[in-house]
Amino acid sequence: GFDLSQFEVGDLIGKGAFGEVYVASHKRRKRVKVALKCMMKSQEDRYLDVDGHSTPVLAEVAMMLRLMNAPRCPNIIRLHDWVELEDNFVLILEYAESCQTLLQYIKDTGDIEENQARRLMRQLIRAVMFCTERGVFHGDIHTANILVTLPRLELKLIDFGCAQPITHKPFNKSDYRGAGHGMPPEALRGRVFHANPAYVWTIGIMLYEIMHGRLAFCNRQSLMFGSIQINPRLSTACVDLISQCLIRNPVQRLQLHQVEEHCWFNPTTPNPV
Ligand code: ADP
Ligand code: MG
Ligand code: MG
Repeated sequence: GFDLSQFEVGDLIGKGAFGEVYVASHKRRKRVKVALKCMMKSQEDRYLDVDGHSTPVLAEVAMMLRLMNAPRCPNIIRLHDWVELEDNFVLILEYAESCQTLLQYIKDTGDIEENQARRLMRQLIRAVMFCTERGVFHGDIHTANILVTLPRLELKLIDFGCAQPITHKPFNKSDYRGAGHGMPPEALRGRVFHANPAYVWTIGIMLYEIMHGRLAFCNRQSLMFGSIQINPRLSTACVDLISQCLIRNPVQRLQLHQVEEHCWFNPTTPNPV
């Protein structure tokens, strides 16, 4: 276990819809730091069963636990432990030192080079593939739920508060619990949807946002029917990858393994014609 009394709570480092996140340092070993995500309990909290636990745990914890067994993925924030108090949950997380959210990084950096984008996207894909292997659909991937460490550009996926277990059954629209930025059109349309194509859509949305500094679609109407405006100065491979991830029909969309194999990530394979 993790002894919280050994830690001194420091600055507020982040605020989301449901949680406040503080940095805390070990009282004796000052360089040992953790992030504490504190959430008020609410009526809507979801609990899930976890192997080895006698009682169900907060769904966010349960989903993260699936990702914590070795070998872990370095691109997913680590959950050290958690505490359930009468009115609050506290998640004790790996503290991503000298990091920004991807949202802030995009704002501060301005024009991001394709090489840097590639570096970030490789890590995001690694995180996403790892989640699918462990049966976790994140369901809320957007730029405030991705941390980037500077100057090394290591990427950490955070916030599994909307995550769902992947089963043999497809998801319904109500299973997409996230803010909506990354919601694929098939989910918005109210059809059933599957985790892998939904992840690929989100990957396209993230790559678009990194390369353009703005959202691919500004509202539901344009998400469902609008055409995407891609910067013509991007490489052919990059344009192709964005367009193929953002194909509205999930059957025609690039598949997850094809994303990783796409020529934008593999400059030696020939460009699409
Ligand atoms: P919510 O579920 O309320 O959206 P998040 O888990 O997304 O909460 O955390 C809110 C913010 O706190 C993030 O956008 C980020 O800025 C910051 N944050 C969260 N976890 C960490 C962490 N482990 N290290 C550093 N900053 C973090
Ligand atoms: Mg969040
Ligand atoms: Mg959340």
